[in-house]
Amino acid sequence: MDVISADKLYIAGTYRRAPVVFVEGKGSLLYDEKSAEYIDFGSGIAVAGLGHGNAAWLKAVTGQLGRLPHASNLYYTEPAARLAEKLCQRTGMKKVFLCNSGAEANECAIKAARKFGEGAGKTEILTLENSFHGRTVATLAATGQEALRKHFGPFPEGFAYARPNDIADLEAKFSDKTAAVMLELVQGEGGVTALGAEFVKRAAELCAASGALLVIDEVQTGNGRTGTLYAYMDYGVSPDIVTTAKGLGNGLPIGACMFAEKTEGVLEAGEHGSTFGGNPAVCAGACAVLDQIDGELLAGVREKSARIRAELAACPGVKGLSGKGLMIGIECEDAKETAAKCLERGLVVLTAHEKIRLLPALNIGEKELVKGLKILKEVLNGETLT
Ligand SMILES: *Cc1c(COP(=O)(O)O)cnc(C)c1O
Repeated sequence: MDVISADKLYIAGTYRRAPVVFVEGKGSLLYDEKSAEYIDFGSGIAVAGLGHGNAAWLKAVTGQLGRLPHASNLYYTEPAARLAEKLCQRTGMKKVFLCNSGAEANECAIKAARKFGEGAGKTEILTLENSFHGRTVATLAATGQEALRKHFGPFPEGFAYARPNDIADLEAKFSDKTAAVMLELVQGEGGVTALGAEFVKRAAELCAASGALLVIDEVQTGNGRTGTLYAYMDYGVSPDIVTTAKGLGNGLPIGACMFAEKTEGVLEAGEHGSTFGGNPAVCAGACAVLDQIDGELLAGVREKSARIRAELAACPGVKGLSGKGLMIGIECEDAKETAAKCLERGLVVLTAHEKIRLLPALNIGEKELVKGLKILKEVLNGETLT
């Protein structure tokens, strides 16, 4: 039986997959079963931020795999400690909880926010409409998209939703009961919408004034994606909790919930945990990822972003552009159809609601960038194959 048939027969039908089987990846190139080459503008949904099989990452991971792939959190291991040290040094955060996914990082943030607010009777977490915080029951409750929650109730109580970039609505929904405001600074799955600086500042002010926590979900925006190490660094706010995942692993599953001074001691021994969290091989790889996200790489992200935007803005088929850094949303006639056509021509792009979403590797090479943009522009402009 071929791969697609076996997948359709045996994998739970939760995904609508594109009709391609990828077997190999190198940097920003992917290869299918028939050795056809694709330019990758999706990075496995912002995961392979340094490209597929990044050399330093691979060396770190395979080296650690050969020594000790897993020990459990009953003992100390070096890669997890080093990773947490790097994260704290680069962000000013004080402590890190390591887990395996974005949803788990947010789950940890939700538990911490609830415990933090407990004594003051603060029981509600305010998130945004159109947000995406994960697929577990609690993170779905935090996710401001009714359609994703359908069938799966009842949900844990204590979540409210404000309209993104609507300061009046944020002020109206914020109350003495608010334990935390939880935001994606650029909504990813919800349609690549960046929050305005004034809106985010107001959220930070409301939290500071009432003793609520500012929680920033950087699962997708983090690790260089928007042109700074974490997106909050360009918003002039100091979050109390930052969660991240996707790009930190460059291909292996990892999540991190980072705590600032105010929250570093909230979760105590026995109150949270994860069997795989802080896995040595994954953490060794993540250390190699962080080491490569330096000023030069970040400047490259901003430069490439400006270039891609300028080229796309000049396309007749582009109705609008959104996002930040190398997280780019494109409004066009039919995003799903556009993505399918790009794939047929050897370019991988993603969609988010009604938009095309680009999440290329932060270090995508000049040749791949030019070639991919050419295909994308041809498809967006309805040109025939050249
Ligand atoms: C992808 C994503 C998540 C969920 O991450 P998983 O690793 O799929 O659990 C949460 N928040 C944001 C902003 C995301 O983009």
